[in-house]
Amino acid sequence: MKFYNTLTRQKEEFVPQEKGVVRMYNCGPTVYSYPHIGNFRAFVFADVLRRYLEYRGLEVRQVMNITDVGHLVADADEGEDKLEAAARKEKKDPWQIAGYYAEIFHRIRKQLGFAEAMAFPRATEHIPEMIAIIEKLVARGHGYVVGNNVYFSVASFPSYGKLSGNLLDTLEAGARIEPHPDKKDPRDFALWKHDPKHLMQWDSPWGRGFPGWHIECSAMSMKYLGETLDIHTGGEDNIFPHHECEIAQSESATGKPFCRLWMHARFLLVNGEKMAKSAGNFFTVEDVFQRGVGPQALRYMLATSHYRQQMNFTWEGAESAKTSLERLAEFRRRLSDAHGAAPVAAVKPVVDKARKDFEAAMDDDLNISEALAAIYGLVREVNRLDPDPAAAAFVRDAFDRIDTVLNIGTAPPDVFSDDEKNLIDARAAARTTKNWAESDRLRKELEAKGVLVEDTPRGQRPRRARK
Ligand code: AMP
Ligand code: ZN
Repeated sequence: MKFYNTLTRQKEEFVPQEKGVVRMYNCGPTVYSYPHIGNFRAFVFADVLRRYLEYRGLEVRQVMNITDVGHLVADADEGEDKLEAAARKEKKDPWQIAGYYAEIFHRIRKQLGFAEAMAFPRATEHIPEMIAIIEKLVARGHGYVVGNNVYFSVASFPSYGKLSGNLLDTLEAGARIEPHPDKKDPRDFALWKHDPKHLMQWDSPWGRGFPGWHIECSAMSMKYLGETLDIHTGGEDNIFPHHECEIAQSESATGKPFCRLWMHARFLLVNGEKMAKSAGNFFTVEDVFQRGVGPQALRYMLATSHYRQQMNFTWEGAESAKTSLERLAEFRRRLSDAHGAAPVAAVKPVVDKARKDFEAAMDDDLNISEALAAIYGLVREVNRLDPDPAAAAFVRDAFDRIDTVLNIGTAPPDVFSDDEKNLIDARAAARTTKNWAESDRLRKELEAKGVLVEDTPRGQRPRRARK
């Protein structure tokens, strides 16, 4: 397997440090408002990556954090905490805000069919771990205290900039960072902050205060996964300053490499611009659900564009995701109800080729368009061959195994309510008595409930319309 490493700027063969085990940390959501679908692009990418590593036989220890304090507006080092700004706006306290939006995040990740991570740690529950690292940094001369604030000294970590390419000279020349009265160097960033107005506060050796955003991810990743991670992911905006600062802190505290492979999902765009809360050009996940694009279609859309290419969101794209899902679901259904003549020996070469092509594509930095081509090639060829029941079962097993990665094709079996079941039975009865008018009327009634019926030589086949 080869993946593109943001740190080395090339595709590299991936070999975890411990045989068979992958330690992976994903920067998760900041829970201050409804997540938009751009956020979920980064999370779906992490889920597909995790699923592919498992498909390849690796055990994945996956941790995705929940940021519920310390992430300041505009990812800056000064200014208001996103959680507290939201609390002020919604006239709630920041704990309520965090609890409410964390719940929403968990609900959506389940709806989108994510594999369960090993842990979803919350920053506010790991303050002692953060303080311990900051103490270590101060003791080693990488951190310094000014009043009740603690800063990281960038000059003490010469390889600062290795991830983002924001090296000393370019940073100094850029207008991006303002000189700060307390900081020895304008590049320095806060590890612990004192702010009497901040509502979430903890005791620390430097007085009451709250942690900087970057230290949270260093503390939570190392607590659950050890001092050296195999993979760390995020969206491309996390590269700088967030991940650059995580590396500086973690490596200064432990003296060990912090992470071996850094992978970043590029942005989801709307009309060519990054989808972002601050730009106001965003669709929340709830928005798209309400407009008739369900969790499976959203997952399909986000999972099937290459993570290292920017993706433009359009409603046409959402519609075509629904059509593709429908096609896969129909294929999967037919495999359970096959009456053709082609034996296993006829479909086996087609299945073997699809599997080989799928793996070769995913091994090449998750080349999703090639991987999809392998899946649709399988669909086309198997439809053409028209398998007998044993051959169909053989294809179905292979298809389901491949689909453990993208999790888009094996739609859960359709469930019908009692009311719907009665209508389906009534329609079957109407058809046996050749009451076509009643049968058509019942078809329309079922359709209005989102149940489509197809009449086949072996009777009617009901199914739920995909969203
Ligand atoms: P936040 O909730 O702001 O901490 O962001 C959660 C994750 O979403 C981070 O990994 C971001 O990099 C990612 N993200 C934010 N906006 C986008 C976007 N438009 N496209 C892809 N990823 C994004
Ligand atoms: Zn993070």
